[in-house]
Amino acid sequence: MKLEGKVALITGGGRGIGRGIAEVFAEEGADVVVNDIDITAPEVDGVVQWIRSKGRRSKAFQADVSKRAEVETMFEEAWSEFGHVDILVNNAGIETIVPFLELKDEQWTRVTDVDLRGPWLCSQTFCKRVVAEGRKASIVNIGSVQAAKIIAGRTHYAPAKLGLEALTRNVSAEMTPLGIRVNCVHPGFIATSMTEWILNSPEILPEILKQISTGRPGEPREIGTVAAFFASDEASYLTGQSIHVDGGWVFK
Ligand code: NAD
Repeated sequence: MKLEGKVALITGGGRGIGRGIAEVFAEEGADVVVNDIDITAPEVDGVVQWIRSKGRRSKAFQADVSKRAEVETMFEEAWSEFGHVDILVNNAGIETIVPFLELKDEQWTRVTDVDLRGPWLCSQTFCKRVVAEGRKASIVNIGSVQAAKIIAGRTHYAPAKLGLEALTRNVSAEMTPLGIRVNCVHPGFIATSMTEWILNSPEILPEILKQISTGRPGEPREIGTVAAFFASDEASYLTGQSIHVDGGWVFK
């Protein structure tokens, strides 16, 4: 197993891609801290129970990743419950679709706060603790194909995700010498509640699938397997990298 003995904290782990990552990590031997913005949602407990059913430890911690005080409390509690955290997956993210000329300040701010400030805040808080303890660790950021591909109505989301790729490289350059590797997975079109409206659209779905070489949406666990590799010691010489896991969408 790739992640035996490790503890992973997955932001936005309560459903979708975060759940897929949590499942694969648990199967690879990790205990999993599940973060979400509202842990009273039944699906969050569903993830925790699933991980426990595989014989791993798991607990949910509530925090809005864009709020420093909540993030610091979450890491404090996770450390005291699990003793250490070895892997951070910055997965929590939101997407809205708004034409550029109609985009409002608060829409720009919320999306960039969750999708870029959140990973920055979580990474900094995590790294301070890991560096103070002198442990080795790994961060996996969950970006988007939209860091490289233009899809209308995302002049807030796409820059946040491209920014996350730059954050990956820059944090990697400063933290890898201290023992923390940082990499990024850019998912393509993955079947989750974020994409449900496309999956249910008989007009839009075939148009998108035509652009994807595999001809189908990806599954959350297909992001999880790549994230697990990045997080594992098998990827010990891999840092600062971003990879598209998109069924061949971005370059078609
Ligand atoms: P989702 O909406 O199904 O799940 C997102 C999770 O993040 C939810 O559990 C939500 O409650 C949580 N969350 C949202 N805001 C949060 C906050 N401020 N603090 C903590 N948790 C928060 O979405 P998904 O499709 O699973 O997306 C996961 C990640 O993958 C996102 O970063 C998204 O941008 C990225 N992504 C998704 C796709 C796709 O096709 N689904 C494609 C590219 C990138």
